[in-house]
Amino acid sequence: MEQREPNLDPENWDSLRREAHAMLDDMLDYIAQIRTRPVWQPIPDEKRAQFRAPLPQGPSDLRDVYQEFAQDVLPYAAGNVHPGFMGWVNGGGTAVGMLAEMLAGGINANLGGRDHMPVEVERQIVAWMREILGFPETATGLFVTGSSLANFIGILVARTAALGPSVRKQGVGGEGSKLRAYASAAAHRCIPLGMDLSGLGSDAVRPIPFDGDGRMDIPALKAAIAEDRAAGLKPFLVVGTAGTVDTGAVDDLDAIADLCAAEKLHFHIDGAFGAMAVLSPELKPLMKGLERADSIAFDFHKWAQVPYDAGFVMVRDGALHRDTFASPAAYLRTNAKGLAAGAPWFSDFGPDLSRGFRALKTWFTLKTYGLKKMGEVVAHSCALAKHLEERIRAEPKLELLTPARLNIVCFRYGSDDALNARLVIELQETGVAAPSTTTINGKLAIRCAFVNHRTRFSDVDAMVNTVLRLGVAVVAR
Ligand SMILES: *Cc1c(COP(=O)(O)O)cnc(C)c1O
Repeated sequence: MEQREPNLDPENWDSLRREAHAMLDDMLDYIAQIRTRPVWQPIPDEKRAQFRAPLPQGPSDLRDVYQEFAQDVLPYAAGNVHPGFMGWVNGGGTAVGMLAEMLAGGINANLGGRDHMPVEVERQIVAWMREILGFPETATGLFVTGSSLANFIGILVARTAALGPSVRKQGVGGEGSKLRAYASAAAHRCIPLGMDLSGLGSDAVRPIPFDGDGRMDIPALKAAIAEDRAAGLKPFLVVGTAGTVDTGAVDDLDAIADLCAAEKLHFHIDGAFGAMAVLSPELKPLMKGLERADSIAFDFHKWAQVPYDAGFVMVRDGALHRDTFASPAAYLRTNAKGLAAGAPWFSDFGPDLSRGFRALKTWFTLKTYGLKKMGEVVAHSCALAKHLEERIRAEPKLELLTPARLNIVCFRYGSDDALNARLVIELQETGVAAPSTTTINGKLAIRCAFVNHRTRFSDVDAMVNTVLRLGVAVVAR
């Protein structure tokens, strides 16, 4: 009798094929019928307990494992696929992106390096992004998990520019302790976190106040730089935000670019979601100056609807980018020919050696929909925000805290923080809509960010109507 050597392929491909087709059909139905579900629902205790199970020493039927997923995981997702999801900044994903994820899983490509076509797909995205963002041929780019890591890479590149590649061997040392970075007080928390991880310390980024429109105050920025220079410190980096997470404000990127050119500072942009506004001809003027950045971080998994995760960083000076990460090793030697050809490898431009095929779902998304349609989706999110702003202005019980900036609006019901916090939780529990909260000028705000391509004007109305209804009920208690 033939002894089967251990491997993980199915004994019966036909039955696997049937299971696979059923899963695919289920997931397509899930996305197509997403509106019939609640945006989100709390996880029952007994469901949570299922995931405190003992180690699976033996095998299970694929069908049973899939049933567990369908019953215990799928119904309790965060809801960002749903058009009523309006919290934080989360992309909606697409069926096309899902299919590309499946193909990427099949080919199981590792894009750290070597000479194979998946690497060329990522290079294709880099070339397209140079063109879309207005960056030169010398610019390099790569996929990472998200903008948190992409911003960290931008900070590391700026650190190399300031201290030279020797910082990688010697550490930041005395000179490093003098480096100072600047970002809006409204910048994302990953900027101080990136400074922390870089060894420069989160105290070395100065928060610069923002104006009434939520944009970094340029005179205050200039004054902070001058003050630090006078104190013997070494300004090296300004981070501009193209779309702040709280209110969607876009810093004056052109003014920051001018200042960085005059002061010889690295200009990095956190464009996590906002950078995708360049896809819309109407919105693109808001991003003026973006094309002058030394580096930029953004996500395809937010406004570009690519399934998680798909962050991206682009660096104007590709040599500087490479000097920040390239680390030769005998077992990673590249050749002119053979499978070890294809230098430079993506692993020379970031901290990851093994890297998944994020480029494929992005390539499928950009090609299948085309840039024009992608731009229309981005512009529509902003139209939804305008519509919400108008509804709030027309309702005496609602107070507008920040107007529509890009795709974000902040407001509240009445004037009590605790009431608004309660209201958002109850609203999420209705399953109708899921905004999040933040603090604007010391007031607890209901924050709506429209990112999902499925959201319609009627979803915005349903959210407002539910807030008004719940507001009356919560006050009555
Ligand atoms: C979402 C976001 C980030 C973080 O990006 P991740 O992809 O979640 O890591 C950084 N900055 C801004 C402005 C964001 O909106």
